Amino acid sequence: MISVNEALDRVLDLARAMPRQSVGLRQATGRYLADSVVAKYASPPFDTSAMDGFAVRAADLAEANENSPVRMPLAGEILAGRPADAPLAPGKVVGINTGAPVPEGADAIVPVERTRSLGEGGARGEEVEILRAPSAGDHIRRAGEDFGVGEVLLGGGLKIDSRTTGLLASLGYGEVSVTRRPRVAVMSSGSELVEPGNPLGPGQIYNSNLFALTDLLTAFGAEVHPLGVVRDKPEETRAGLEAGFGYDVLVTTGGVSMGTRDLIRPTLLELGADEIFWKVRQRPGKPLFFAKMDATLCFGLPGNPVSVLTAAIIYLRPAILKMLGATSIDLPWENAIAGADFPKKKGLTFFARADRARNSPGDEKSEDGPVTVVPSTGQGSHQMKSFALAAGIVRLPEQAETVEAGAAVEFVDLASIC
Ligand code: AMP
Ligand code: MG
Repeated sequence: MISVNEALDRVLDLARAMPRQSVGLRQATGRYLADSVVAKYASPPFDTSAMDGFAVRAADLAEANENSPVRMPLAGEILAGRPADAPLAPGKVVGINTGAPVPEGADAIVPVERTRSLGEGGARGEEVEILRAPSAGDHIRRAGEDFGVGEVLLGGGLKIDSRTTGLLASLGYGEVSVTRRPRVAVMSSGSELVEPGNPLGPGQIYNSNLFALTDLLTAFGAEVHPLGVVRDKPEETRAGLEAGFGYDVLVTTGGVSMGTRDLIRPTLLELGADEIFWKVRQRPGKPLFFAKMDATLCFGLPGNPVSVLTAAIIYLRPAILKMLGATSIDLPWENAIAGADFPKKKGLTFFARADRARNSPGDEKSEDGPVTVVPSTGQGSHQMKSFALAAGIVRLPEQAETVEAGAAVEFVDLASIC
């Protein structure tokens, strides 16, 4: 039996980055950038008016104020979407709209609110009155003020979200180079399993693992292919496993313990898979099995639902993120304080479900500081209710016995990752 850290090291050692592929920007959200993104254009690309008003030379209007407006001849209007083809003639102003290029020679924009139109019925006439002296630079967005050509804007390995698709679109990217999602086959084993939506017979239970696992691994960024259920029969098990070879990862649930009908591990070995490890000093999920079949990483997760999800979070999440080339693959562990005793068995790392104590951060009446956590009621590996409702998981060290109230513990918020 190996430790959690050793098991994780062996998994990550075999998890290799996926090849890159090009996807349309609309399909890019949630994917990981294969390369860093360098600005091909400056932003703004040209000096731009930030207001609707008039492009002026500030020096022409130094004396302007409400009581003695300065009357200026108007030299047409510059609209957004077209170049400013003529420089501003000396002694004149030109109408300009927000987003339009500032003409050469102009050094300030006077907003329309600081002017009085001299045309009939509010229309623009030949002249305009300026009611306040501008300062040079007023309401001009300078070219490159946001970023310049050649600036590295986004690092490779960044997860693309709605903000970054906006930035990519502003740079004109119609397609973007991302890492391919790892293709992950998931399969459940167990003669007792019935698909939800069907009636249960005596001794049967619903197959919950396949649903939870499919959603969880999808949330981690994998392309998940559910292969269904195999009964605890050698031929079915063999055919099911063979269907999973060829994917980047094959994840099975159940059938890796000591029972006479636990067929996943023996069948994988018989089919030629190389065992990397079997059994980890942890709870839940001690019988975790990990093997490699050609290029396919095979995770034999135990059958109990909490073991399945905990193992997926602890081992599959970092493996998938590594395959995606993500910058950060570690779980977001945070420091927390045990608000009550966490009983545990010495010699096994314990991943306990935990709830936030009242009056601790996350609670409305909280103060800043580390969150205080207490063990959820129901720590059995079959007790899905507590897992479904827990605030998070606390990782308690292998060598510890009961971790006492007041001790520092590591906590991961499940809502942030599931
Ligand atoms: P096993 O590791 O196959 O011995 O399964 C351990 C426990 O998990 C047994 O009580 C199984 O009935 C249960 N179990 C196995 N697979 C599933 C599944 N897909 N959904 C829900 N429970 C399961
Ligand atoms: Mg079973």
